[in-house]
Amino acid sequence: MKLYKFEKLSQKLDLLNFPEVKESRFEVVRKDFSEEESKGNITFKDDGIYLMMNGIEHKGYMYIKIADVDQFGHPKFHISNCQTIIQQQEQNRFHGHYYWSNSNIVDIQQRRSSKIHKDTILELCYNCRITANISDYNNTQGFFELLDIQDKEPQNKEELDIRGYVKKWQQISKKFRIENKFTCDNCKIKIENKFDQRFIQVHHRNGNKLINNRENLQCLCVLCHANIDERHTENFQNRRSVFEINTFIEKYKDELISLNNQFINNYIN
Ligand SMILES: [Zn+2]
Ligand SMILES: [Zn+2]
Ligand SMILES: [Zn+2]
Repeated sequence: MKLYKFEKLSQKLDLLNFPEVKESRFEVVRKDFSEEESKGNITFKDDGIYLMMNGIEHKGYMYIKIADVDQFGHPKFHISNCQTIIQQQEQNRFHGHYYWSNSNIVDIQQRRSSKIHKDTILELCYNCRITANISDYNNTQGFFELLDIQDKEPQNKEELDIRGYVKKWQQISKKFRIENKFTCDNCKIKIENKFDQRFIQVHHRNGNKLINNRENLQCLCVLCHANIDERHTENFQNRRSVFEINTFIEKYKDELISLNNQFINNYIN
């Protein structure tokens, strides 16, 4: 079975200015869901189903192996333990029936036939869409493209902007913050107001702005971000950042106090 059409992938990478596929740590994988789950390798998170492989968590989805595509059309793919999945479990139609994957396309076997529906793009399950509140993608292609952008590190200087970020940084940051529902990973403040969502920022855990895979990214409110370590405290001392932090605190003071944000007391008498 072919997991990915490589001519498509390299076209896509050309578009994104990424030089070489083999430099990336990103892998397209398909695994038996139940097998991996029984080994403890599966974790359900807000934004997808994660598979632990060689010490690295990969984000993906699950889909049914065999379906009556000829009669009912393509099955949907799932990114959560949604109503449909719970129902399948209750009716004993779950265990051993699903694959985990992170590919843009899948192969589905036709029920009661050896026929394979190859290279199929699946649509996102309606129940998963509601549960996860996803507006960014509606099929496996969109899901994959989100991974595709985030899990690659650029190699060329031309791909960086003047501040040393990758040129796709605005997009990566926006998508990451949407996935994390504009919630600070440290103090857990969640910003609902669209105009205030700039107060939620994306931090690089290891300090390297070029490594934009999920393991290295963290959503932080501007207050937690400015105080995460000494280097940040220094970097946030410019007028604009100070103004931003003060505006944030002015507006969200009560909430930050009730969330026990550990930095707020340094800013209010
Ligand atoms: Zn679902
Ligand atoms: Zn915070
Ligand atoms: Zn940072």
